Amino acid sequence: MRIILMGPPGVGKGSEAELLIKSFQIPHISTGDIFRELYKDRTTVGKIAKEYISRGELVPDDITNEIVRHRLSQPDVKKGFLFDGYPRNIEQAKALDEILAKKGCKLDAVINIDAPEEQIVERISGRRVCSTCGAVYHIHSKKPQVEGICDLDGGQLIQRNDDMPETVQRRLRIYKDQTAPVIGYYQEKGAIVYIDGTSTIAHTHAQVMKALGELN
Ligand code: AMP
Ligand code: ZN
Repeated sequence: MRIILMGPPGVGKGSEAELLIKSFQIPHISTGDIFRELYKDRTTVGKIAKEYISRGELVPDDITNEIVRHRLSQPDVKKGFLFDGYPRNIEQAKALDEILAKKGCKLDAVINIDAPEEQIVERISGRRVCSTCGAVYHIHSKKPQVEGICDLDGGQLIQRNDDMPETVQRRLRIYKDQTAPVIGYYQEKGAIVYIDGTSTIAHTHAQVMKALGELN
């Protein structure tokens, strides 16, 4: 399966991605995670990306596309892949088309999860991440067993800088201006599936699996 998972920040793409990669045994390619990893490793690209990320802006396309090109050259993507947070604008969508065409492979599905803005803001403001492993929690809907502590490794749960209210507003605006048009781009290619993300993680996943089943 070669899947793109789309949707506004905070709609639950990350949670759905975790379930999908288990269902299909495919690698999860989150450009946001790759940038955070590169920053943690103190690489130059990571430091550049961090500047943009902390302002809530998109990392420039040349950097982002190059990272994706490199990721798609690794052997594990032969099984397929799940993109989460990429492409985020039309230029990136076109770049991905080119990369995939050169590899001679096609996308199986583009999944767009959506929810109303108030709900999205509530979800982002309650989001907490493990400072050690990056696992994602929510203060209401995905609580850890012990408050403030990661279930997996005992790491401290923190709020991402870019999940702070002002930055969230900027991310939402960029989503509307630049990322939402990508949905139209895939719609024209006839590859898109629309999913209502207002319900629980489990219900969203059930809808996604049903829609994917109907594609074949
Ligand atoms: P995410 O974890 O997907 O919410 O991404 C966190 C941040 O990383 C975004 O707000 C952007 O600053 C940056 N980022 C992630 N993916 C991309 C992308 N495809 N293009 C540009 N910037 C990105
Ligand atoms: Zn952890």
